[in-house]
Amino acid sequence: MAGRTKFLLDESDMPTQWYNVVADLPEPPPPPLHPGTGEPVGPDDLAPLFPQALIAQEVSAERYIPIPDEVQEVYRLWRPSPLYRAHRLEKALGTPARIYYKYEGVSPVGSHKPNTAVPQAYYNAAEGVGKLTTETGAGQWGSALAFACAQFGLECEIWQVRASYDQKPYRKIMMETFGATLHPSPSDLTSSGRAILAAHPDSTGSLGIAISEAVEMAAGDPDARYALGSVLNHVLLHQTIIGEEALRQFELAGDTPDVIVGCTGGGSNFGGLAFPFLREKLAGRIDPHIRAVEPAACPSLTRGKYTYDFGDTAGLTPLLKMHTLGHEFIPDPIHAGGLRYHGMSPLLSHIVELGLVDAVAIGQNECFAAGVRFARAEGIIPAPEPTHALAECVREALRCKETGEEKVILTALCGHAHLDLPAYASYSRATWWTAS
Ligand SMILES: *Cc1c(COP(=O)(O)O)cnc(C)c1O
Repeated sequence: MAGRTKFLLDESDMPTQWYNVVADLPEPPPPPLHPGTGEPVGPDDLAPLFPQALIAQEVSAERYIPIPDEVQEVYRLWRPSPLYRAHRLEKALGTPARIYYKYEGVSPVGSHKPNTAVPQAYYNAAEGVGKLTTETGAGQWGSALAFACAQFGLECEIWQVRASYDQKPYRKIMMETFGATLHPSPSDLTSSGRAILAAHPDSTGSLGIAISEAVEMAAGDPDARYALGSVLNHVLLHQTIIGEEALRQFELAGDTPDVIVGCTGGGSNFGGLAFPFLREKLAGRIDPHIRAVEPAACPSLTRGKYTYDFGDTAGLTPLLKMHTLGHEFIPDPIHAGGLRYHGMSPLLSHIVELGLVDAVAIGQNECFAAGVRFARAEGIIPAPEPTHALAECVREALRCKETGEEKVILTALCGHAHLDLPAYASYSRATWWTAS
């Protein structure tokens, strides 16, 4: 088999800065608005929820932001993460395309989420905060934040969407092992939760409801702040370590991506991979086509409206200009829990509006079929979310097979499925014989 499979960086070659794409855009993204006044929110409005350092990053136009040494130290538990060439998948597809994936499943919780959980916990601890609150769906973000809080001696209190809390015990155990306190959402601990329960006593919850509960608790406790695992500018900023590493690894590979695809729930793993390559594209050094892939069941970028909307169900957050299905939208229960969010990162939404990135929505069965194909060829069972990106990789690779083009395709394999195997079980019960 020709060519190397794995491209590794030494720890000493790990990037020491995050990249802020805002610095290089032709126009800045529209600011978040205060729902009461309709004016842009200021640092004072955000201070009950976030530490000053993260508020500064949220509005920063600096191109590079240094990664604190304490954060780098924790990153080195698993970073730099490997870039793989998917030789075996290429062969299975019979494509002349070259497919690469940047693998984030090597982190302590098996996804890219700790890339932002660790700096968020660090900055909060550095400013004397005692506790972080958050929401989680399937538990990927909750387990990342629980791990990060344990690194810096913070308490961690998590509202988990009821449906996942009841059905997915393993990440719950992981979060509690890392020391977090869990509540199913909606809960009777907050007025947002109580309002939902009064109207829908059997509510199985949603991310939007769980965000309302976590925000309400943080806003009411001077010792606590809130942490969000996606959507916001500072989250996408922290994730750019993925793309910065991948750029260096492509130099090792002596190759250049023509197509970059990633799955988008709130946009953070995709932005993290794509933005450093977008910088190179805007500077005229490379010209990749950059594409976001979302589930057909929750198609905010492809079917949502680009407008100001709340980030949560109860309307406690600032208004964010983003592609949204409406803050009261509750998506069908698809297996890719991390992609079930009504909105999209305002920064990524803006970049899509600028025409620098395009988007496609793909249905669940095609995604799982791609996930199974990938698993059989490469030996990693992908989390349900990145199977969306893999489905687009497969489509692109098969187009190359038709045309004979030798395109170079890059994707982020943002997590493995070891705690999401039941999703594969229900998929295979339905379609086992047609998937292979
Ligand atoms: C949370 C999560 C997502 C969705 O979030 P983004 O911010 O869009 O990256 C996707 N994949 C995995 C594995 C996740 O844990």
